[in-house]
Amino acid sequence: MIISPDESSPARVFSGVQPSGLPHIGNYLGAFRNYLAMQDGYEAIYCIVDYHALTSTHDAALIRQNAHEMALGLLALGLDPERATFFRQSDRPEHAELAYLLSSVVPVSWVERTPSFKEKRRTQPADINHALLTYPVLQTADICIYRARYVPVGKDQAAHLELAREIVRAWNSRYGELFVEPDAVFSDSPLIVGTDGVQKMSKSVGNTIDIFADEAVLRKQVMSMVTDTQRILRTDPGRPEVCNVCQLHRWFSPEDFEQVWEGERTARTGCVDTKRLLADRILAYFAEARERRRELEARPGRVEEILRAGAERLAPLATEMLGQVHDRMGLGPPRGVAQ
Ligand code: ADP
Repeated sequence: MIISPDESSPARVFSGVQPSGLPHIGNYLGAFRNYLAMQDGYEAIYCIVDYHALTSTHDAALIRQNAHEMALGLLALGLDPERATFFRQSDRPEHAELAYLLSSVVPVSWVERTPSFKEKRRTQPADINHALLTYPVLQTADICIYRARYVPVGKDQAAHLELAREIVRAWNSRYGELFVEPDAVFSDSPLIVGTDGVQKMSKSVGNTIDIFADEAVLRKQVMSMVTDTQRILRTDPGRPEVCNVCQLHRWFSPEDFEQVWEGERTARTGCVDTKRLLADRILAYFAEARERRRELEARPGRVEEILRAGAERLAPLATEMLGQVHDRMGLGPPRGVAQ
């Protein structure tokens, strides 16, 4: 994988994931599948966004451990450091500086109205910190510092990407065209519902199915899923269209999910059978990745090495971009003037 200094090469892709520990199937189906697919044909850059984690965690050991865990998970799922650049956000502090510089063209009202900020106001009322408010500006900096064109994400990130485009337009119109307006890239399963059958699958809600959980835990997570709430008796016909378990079979049982659905519709199978089968299929789907993770886990230094090498590879790009931004914004001496 090459990171080229100019724009004549394949389009650049960037995406970041919070260090939230074990990845879940929502992350995978909504975003990671595209991370992996876009390793070919694009210049892909993927990042563990540990600065972002500070918006809701102040436990240093936990952030570090979860960052390692998430990196391990992504590598096990097939993120290939030979084909994509993989690094940790805090190893490239230029992101934070660019976020500050961008923030000077962002009206406060823009960040106040983001759905994620409103949501956090509700879910963590005791810790509505400033970083939470400016989260989308840092996210814009993450993408823009590498002039990334495509951003594979889940649907929950759509509003942030829209805001990133607005920020780029605001900065470019003030200081001249420099940043690229990024486009979100969604998968065909852009929003996975959690085990509660209602909310988005998310670590913070606690309704996840964790790809690398112990087998017994993963089975328990699947068996706890809420199904079609109108199917009370075993003999009642089920409605696969509204049943989250059936919906997940679409992705994990691509060969025969229609038969699974038919079994539900005719009450030939019960919800428990359908869930048990789903757990089997999820375990089979991720068997190789789970094995790879075990191998990688035995070599903790390797993950660090990969992240460090990724950050180093990006240094020239980040420094060059910040240099151009300084120049346009009137910071420091003019470019080309000897210091
Ligand atoms: P979480 O919401 O569990 O904290 P992140 O915010 O770190 O996860 O998300 C990492 C990536 O996974 C993002 O691109 C996000 O859009 C995607 N993602 C997270 N949850 C889901 C979901 N339930 N369905 C689809 N995509 C998701």
